[in-house]
Amino acid sequence: FLSGRTALVTGATSGIGLAIAEALGAAGARVAINGLGSAEQIEAAKQRVGAAGAAEVPYFDADLSDPAAVESMMAKVQAWSPPDVLVNCAGVQHTAPIGEMPAATWDRIVAINLSAAFHTMRLALPGMVERGFGRVVNIASVHGLVASVQKSPYVASKFGLVGLSKVAALEAAAAGSRQSGGVTVNCVCPGWVETPLIEPQISARARAAGGDREAGVRELLREKQPSLRMSLPADIAATVVFLCRPEAHNLTGAAIPVDGGWTAQ
Ligand code: NAD
Repeated sequence: FLSGRTALVTGATSGIGLAIAEALGAAGARVAINGLGSAEQIEAAKQRVGAAGAAEVPYFDADLSDPAAVESMMAKVQAWSPPDVLVNCAGVQHTAPIGEMPAATWDRIVAINLSAAFHTMRLALPGMVERGFGRVVNIASVHGLVASVQKSPYVASKFGLVGLSKVAALEAAAAGSRQSGGVTVNCVCPGWVETPLIEPQISARARAAGGDREAGVRELLREKQPSLRMSLPADIAATVVFLCRPEAHNLTGAAIPVDGGWTAQ
């Protein structure tokens, strides 16, 4: 159902973003990817998204912590194709109590997790509104809905992303029609997902459990995620693909938890 459409996925060189790019490719989209990584990692990501079914997988380089870099990336993306689907998935984490959180870390996390999504949206959304079709999916987190200790910039940035997405959803709500598909803006809010992002947190718990990684994972889940199961990146990608479907034209301004019951408590 996405054939003839184009997508841009940020943070698609690893983890959830890579799985989303693959799933959108499998649904028929041509998928532009962004993200940091070695030349080998970027090439491997392109191969995987192509193998999943994307007819074209251009890579757009940009360190999203720099607004000027986001702007020049978006100019290149628009020259390739104005994206019909925009997924802001790039994100970073650092855990420390607020008094020990370096000010530069705050700035960097807010820049990547929140401001970069503002910049891609301000440059891509007007075109979607004009064409009457668009899907913006921002990968927030349960930490866009509830807090945890030691994550001040992460939680602040993800709450901000949820709010930003609601504003954009309202502004785009009346664009297009049932026939054109409309323009929606939503957040997906994962709980624990098995990716490199959470590895430092798993390692810290594993160390406390005498080096047993599985025990570290169990401990993380026991604290917050009632299903006691990690999500896989592909599980999160499936929700993103659903949001891109024509039938999801009236699903907008939502922050959808995929969290094993974390935020139901
Ligand atoms: P990951 O570390 O595997 O991937 C992060 C991606 O962001 C990578 O492609 C990386 O290159 C990119 N990135 C980081 N800094 C960047 C920068 N300055 N410029 C451009 N790209 C940059 O992590 P992940 O777990 O796949 O995380 C993806 C998103 O999902 C993040 O926004 C994260 O906050 C969110 N999330 C993850 C979990 C989880 O448990 N893993 C839970 C909730 C939300």
